[in-house]
Amino acid sequence: AQERYASIRTEPARTLCGTEVGLHMNAGLMADLPSLDGSGAEGVGLFRTELQFLVRNQMPKRSELSALYARVLDAAKGKRVVFRTLDIGSDKVLPYMKPQEEPNPALGWRAIRVGLDKPGVLRMQLQALIRASHGRPLTIMFPFIAQYEEYKAAKAEMDKALERERVLGHPVPERVEVGAMLETPSLAFAPDRFYQEVDFLSIGGNDLKQFFFAADRENERVRRRYDTLNVSFLTFLESIVKRCDASNTSLSFCGEDAGRPVEAACFAAMGFRMLSMRPASIGPVKHLLRQLDLRQLREVIDEARDRSEQSVRPAVMAYLRTVE
Ligand code: PEP
Ligand code: MG
Repeated sequence: AQERYASIRTEPARTLCGTEVGLHMNAGLMADLPSLDGSGAEGVGLFRTELQFLVRNQMPKRSELSALYARVLDAAKGKRVVFRTLDIGSDKVLPYMKPQEEPNPALGWRAIRVGLDKPGVLRMQLQALIRASHGRPLTIMFPFIAQYEEYKAAKAEMDKALERERVLGHPVPERVEVGAMLETPSLAFAPDRFYQEVDFLSIGGNDLKQFFFAADRENERVRRRYDTLNVSFLTFLESIVKRCDASNTSLSFCGEDAGRPVEAACFAAMGFRMLSMRPASIGPVKHLLRQLDLRQLREVIDEARDRSEQSVRPAVMAYLRTVE
């Protein structure tokens, strides 16, 4: 199988019906970067910056962060890297930060909520990223945005950081993209203005699914209770695709499910044109997509929905057995 994937490494993930799906990889440490070439990923669709904060025992300095991010951009050799700003709180606690006692950490003070309430670290990180780019294009993504105002406030921090660098006479990125992760159902219902303003959206399916079904992603008793290919969830994802299409907003899916070939195929059939996954998943996902006619798969999904099935998985699996 490895050889089969190696032979399509530099080929596009183009389906039989001629649709291209961009396959990107998730990363978090410098050590992940060699996989960019090895996997054939088009870029890094999610760089989880908190990992570099979690592997040390004191808060990194801005100059250290900037050097790290510059090495990431160097290693990416011009491929797009989506830097997600610090996503801590909940299950990710920095050893050098005072732990918060919260009854429901997953619903608590985490990610952009911390970034906006105590902006010191976020500001340092944005400045480090701008300096690391040294004039190269820069892509920033804010985690766990639940409402338009949070995106506006985070974006304003980015604009301020850029202005500060300009005033200091430092080079600023030739192009900046600022996006948000859609991880709470609320953001799917944000005003049209949000969809028009945001440069791109990426679905954090791990969190989005846990909040959609109210099922803790860390709790073994309920974690697998609801299928990702559950009709309600797919219909919800479809509504997000429609809103993004209507406002011409670039949309990707970067949760773990994007790396499961059957799920990835269904997402593509629902209209996703960009997926980000662990590097080892790129080969298998690409291999399946290249054998598929998404219009047929979409019909299979729609028919299962019309039959009021709970999950489209059985119908999709039966269909896939006929094409493989
Ligand atoms: C997600 O929630 O799907 C996601 C990509 O973010 P994380 O897994 O880091 O919470
Ligand atoms: Mg998440």
